[in-house]
Amino acid sequence: MPERPASRSCAEPVYPLESVSAHPPYLTDRYVFTRKRAPLAALQVIRPTLTELTGPAFGVANVSPTDHDLTRQHAGEPIGERIIVTGRVLNEEGRGLPDTMVEIWQANAAGRYRHEADAHPAPLDPNFTGAGRCVTDAQGCYRFITIKPGAYPVVGLDNVWRASHIHLSLFGPSFLTRLVTQMYFPGDALLPYDPMFNCIANEGARQRLIAAFDWENTIPEQALGYRFDIVLRGREETPMEKMP
Ligand code: FE
Repeated sequence: MPERPASRSCAEPVYPLESVSAHPPYLTDRYVFTRKRAPLAALQVIRPTLTELTGPAFGVANVSPTDHDLTRQHAGEPIGERIIVTGRVLNEEGRGLPDTMVEIWQANAAGRYRHEADAHPAPLDPNFTGAGRCVTDAQGCYRFITIKPGAYPVVGLDNVWRASHIHLSLFGPSFLTRLVTQMYFPGDALLPYDPMFNCIANEGARQRLIAAFDWENTIPEQALGYRFDIVLRGREETPMEKMP
């Protein structure tokens, strides 16, 4: 939970530096749900088995041609601002990684997930499920067509809101090579207040979670473009959610 200023005015909460790591810690008091899922004991190294390293691997066979377009999964069009989200999956040398499955999930334009655990009393959209997938091409590029997600409150907490974001999962060549992160939108006024975004102490790393508005990928009269590159390692690595 962010510390609140004495007057609940427009002042921003203060997030002290805890680490210079790009990645958020397992446990962050202000991000209440980490209290339940952070490991209580030291992690143990378990050698992966052969099947874990060699399969199952996801690829183009697991993806239909329209899975990347979240606006075409139902009979009608979803409500909201159509956007293109595109980028590259890169290694530490800036080389694009092909054949990486990228999956996204998100709230609808009203800030509501189509999930039984979502208690936010905002409307569901019958034409929007909020999940999609694609596989990176030879240059490591991925591309989604979707709806800009709305902000939503963390129900049960005192005026805690999530900035608009899209969750992303990446699968590399085996089941154990999964990474999970979130993408945010430039200029979002909620970013200084979002407890998950601010789990990451490193300012530069936080900025790498914010997509860039991308005029080149805007489709005239159709959709605005955003670019979000995902770097797996190195100085420019994208912060990932740790999963014990
Ligand atoms: Fe979310």
